[in-house]
Amino acid sequence: MTKNIKAILLGSIKKNGDREKELDLSLLKEPFEIKSSVIYSLCRNCGGILELTNESAQKLVRLAGIEKTESFAGHYFLTRGCPFCGNDFESAEIKKLA
Ligand SMILES: [Zn+2]
Repeated sequence: MTKNIKAILLGSIKKNGDREKELDLSLLKEPFEIKSSVIYSLCRNCGGILELTNESAQKLVRLAGIEKTESFAGHYFLTRGCPFCGNDFESAEIKKLA
């Protein structure tokens, strides 16, 4: 829990905002390869992009501390940590696709 709070606090520093702009958001507008996917997640640590099923997405909804979401259309999760660069997602926030 302490680790998650720390990650969320660190997420507000400017360095990470700049990093976010370097990540390729256009890939998040591509159609899903897996039919059951509902939303993409983008990792700010490694740039890894994952397609999430509703079940996985609900986990990130809880991690992001937001209300349960009916539709993820037009949104993506920006995460710190992911299964590519670590063991799991450490923190997440939901973002609107520009
Ligand atoms: Zn990652």
